[in-house]
Amino acid sequence: MFSTKNLLRIAGVGIAFGVGTASLYTGNYLGGKMGNTTAGRKFNDYLFNNNKQKKEKNLRNPQEKEACYKLGLLTPDEAQHTNVYKISNFLTYDEIKKIKQAIRKWQNERKIGIVERNNKEQRSTFKDAVWRTSFLHTNNQFKKFFPEIHARIIDQIIITDKKHWKLIHHRQNKNENENNNDNTLKNRVEHLNLRTIESHEYTNGGQLQRNKHYDAGSIVTIDIMLNDSNNEFQGGELSFPQFIDQELDDPNTSRTNNVDIIKLEKGDMALFLSHKYHNVLPIRSGKRHVLVMELWNGPEKTCPHRCETVGKCTHTLNRSHLGNFSQHVGLLG
Ligand SMILES: [Zn+2]
Repeated sequence: MFSTKNLLRIAGVGIAFGVGTASLYTGNYLGGKMGNTTAGRKFNDYLFNNNKQKKEKNLRNPQEKEACYKLGLLTPDEAQHTNVYKISNFLTYDEIKKIKQAIRKWQNERKIGIVERNNKEQRSTFKDAVWRTSFLHTNNQFKKFFPEIHARIIDQIIITDKKHWKLIHHRQNKNENENNNDNTLKNRVEHLNLRTIESHEYTNGGQLQRNKHYDAGSIVTIDIMLNDSNNEFQGGELSFPQFIDQELDDPNTSRTNNVDIIKLEKGDMALFLSHKYHNVLPIRSGKRHVLVMELWNGPEKTCPHRCETVGKCTHTLNRSHLGNFSQHVGLLG
């Protein structure tokens, strides 16, 4: 199944975009308004009904489709048909060791935002926590300490997109052929930045099994495996459900016509469109540790959570760690 470029085509289903590529990128919604009138506005305002409704009925916002087009993104129901790609050995064991040491240090020194959840995926600060998310982009920590890896990851996203999805290259900077000394891929593309850089540590019982979960508002999501999936843990495979077309409008459906499952070895990277439905199967033993990043058409974020605003964010590190002491204070995210 491996091609010469070491890319693994996971899903057999052909790419079935419901709309023409040309119409996808006319909106440039975020780019046009970035930094002023959208301050404080959240993606979820467009993509979902309010949280209360979401909790009670799990209703999807009827305007979700329109919102996706405005953001220049595929709808989840379109994105579910796109493919996942895998790059084997993207990080070396030595790089992984250094990254893990840094994560531990930043956690201990409280330099980064942290959220913990129990096996029902609810926020928890107690011993039942089985899933810890650490926000490595907090105050630019990851980019400061691993600039080369940071740049290499963005380059890989752009390369993979150009070859397969072709969502990003439409956004290329007009100055590309002019006197621009900065020839990195990143600097030839407008407004594209990492929205979040996360370390996810799951132990026994940890999982992400929300029906129709996707990374709303982002373009491409990547996962890099940091632990040895043969020796350090069992379970925890990335899975990509595709829902039956006739039932797409039913938010509670769990009937799928296909689920692609991907196993990552230590150092491997998976790349997929953020709006593609994805889950993590339950961890059965050991610890699953992955790096997760999302590229979006917005500013590079340095606040200690997965931010939902393209404007100024008031979320501080102190607020994040206050959350560690009280499960009742819903300050995070
Ligand atoms: Zn924020």
